[in-house]
Amino acid sequence: MHTLIGKSEAIQIVISVLAITLAMAIVFAGLDGALAYPKEFVLFLLPILVTMGSGFILHEMAHKLVAIYYGARAQFQMWIQGLVFMLVMSVFGILFAAPGAVYIYAEKITKRENGIISLAGPTLNIFLLLIFIVLQKFAPITQYYSFLAPWGNDFQGFGILYGALSVWQFGAAMNLMLALFNMIPAFPLDGSKVMWWNKWIWGGFVLLLLILGAVLIQPGIVISWGIMLLLLLIISRIFFRGGPK
Ligand SMILES: [Zn+2]
Repeated sequence: MHTLIGKSEAIQIVISVLAITLAMAIVFAGLDGALAYPKEFVLFLLPILVTMGSGFILHEMAHKLVAIYYGARAQFQMWIQGLVFMLVMSVFGILFAAPGAVYIYAEKITKRENGIISLAGPTLNIFLLLIFIVLQKFAPITQYYSFLAPWGNDFQGFGILYGALSVWQFGAAMNLMLALFNMIPAFPLDGSKVMWWNKWIWGGFVLLLLILGAVLIQPGIVISWGIMLLLLLIISRIFFRGGPK
C-alpha cells in the first residue's frame, strides 16, 4: 500500500504553504512595514498560517481526495515560477495565490467528475469560512500590529481596524478570497473546469460566495469581485470557446 502523501509531495506542500503565508503577510504589512517591525512581522505569520495557510492546503487536499475517490492519481506539485512570481508581486501589494496545485492523472475522467473535483476546493474554503465566523463570534482573538495601523478602517471586513487584527474574521475573509480567486473562469483555475462542466453550477456557486461575502465580510467585496468576475467571464467567452482540453 502506498502512502496518501509522498515525501517529496509533503516537502512541496510545506514550502508552498510557507510561501503563500509569507506573501500574504507582505501584502498586508508592506515590505517597509515588515522591515520596520521585524519581530511583529514574524508573529504576524502565525495567524496567517493558521487561517490562510490552512485554507490553501485543505483546498488542495479536497481536490486530491475527491480525485482519488474517482479513481484518479492525484499529487500536489509546487510551481516554482508561480511561487517566485507570487513573492515578487506581494512586494507590490498584490497576492497571486498560485504557488502550486494538485495535478490529476487519470485514464479517463468525465467533465462532470472533473467539475466536482474542481468544486471540492472552493467548497472546503466555504466550510473554513463558516468555522472562522463561528470562532469570531464565540472565541474572538484580537492582536495589534503596528504595520497594519496605516490601513485605518479600509479593511474592516477583513478584521483589520486601526492596527488591530481580529484573527478569525481575517481568516473568514481570506477563505472567501481564496474561493473567489479559484472560481475565476480562466484555465487552469478551478472556475474554468466548473464552468466547462456546467455554467449554471458555476454561476450559482459564485453567487453563493458573493452573498456570503456581502453578509459576513463586507458588501464592497461583492461589487469589486462581481465586476471583475463578470469582465473575466466575458473575456473567457471570447477567447476560450472550447474550454480546457
Ligand atoms: Zn483549487
